[in-house]
Amino acid sequence: MTPAEKAMEVHRRLCPVYGCPIEYFNRLGPLEELVSSYLNHRTRNRDARRAYDALRAALPTWEAVRDADVAEVERLIAPATWPEQKAPGLQRLLRAVEAKAGRLDLGFLADMPVRDARDWLEDLPGCGPKTSAAVMSFSTLRAPALPVDSHHHRVAQRLGLIGPRVAVGPSHAVLEGWLPAEWDAQTVYDHHQVFMRHGQRVCHWREPDCADCPLLDLCPEGAAQVPGAARVAEVEERQGRLL
Ligand code: SF4
Repeated sequence: MTPAEKAMEVHRRLCPVYGCPIEYFNRLGPLEELVSSYLNHRTRNRDARRAYDALRAALPTWEAVRDADVAEVERLIAPATWPEQKAPGLQRLLRAVEAKAGRLDLGFLADMPVRDARDWLEDLPGCGPKTSAAVMSFSTLRAPALPVDSHHHRVAQRLGLIGPRVAVGPSHAVLEGWLPAEWDAQTVYDHHQVFMRHGQRVCHWREPDCADCPLLDLCPEGAAQVPGAARVAEVEERQGRLL
């Protein structure tokens, strides 16, 4: 089975488990999603959300965030990790958007090819492939782009879809490369969501539940965790070939 075939098989098995099509979790515009993703970096979702809500409640326009005293921004986003770095970084990010786009608005990205829009975003300070994919996929742009978070990355690595030394950033191009070009935004979003949910609920960082995992026969890590799993998978595959 090629990696592309394995990625499709994983999608096919996990979609019924996690209920595809999966509803989008928010309706932020692209600039709002950019800021939200920035605050989310290495922060639990709940804490990032608290930081984002506090910022928006106190400073309702992006111009106000850009021009605020940096200490006030730091205080407002304190629930996020490293607010002392993220506050000046966020103001730098907003200034960079304005300098590049001519205004504090990213709605124009909807008219660009997805790859070009992601390159545009990745030129911004502090914006890598995960953030650019999140802006394109999660925001109201609803474009086909594959974000890879730490859960998604861990599951993909254990399944052998990426090598053991491929970091989260470079994994985006590899994992997106296995997807059919004709997949729409919802299907690409589902693909990310099923990997992420599987990492959260079954393929835990410590002690993955391999014995109950529907991907066990596809997974080298699972074969190592569950004695006999690889042998069973091999026999079943051979039997399948004989039928
Ligand atoms: S078999 Fe184990 S390691 Fe492999 S995907 Fe399932 S839970 Fe993760």
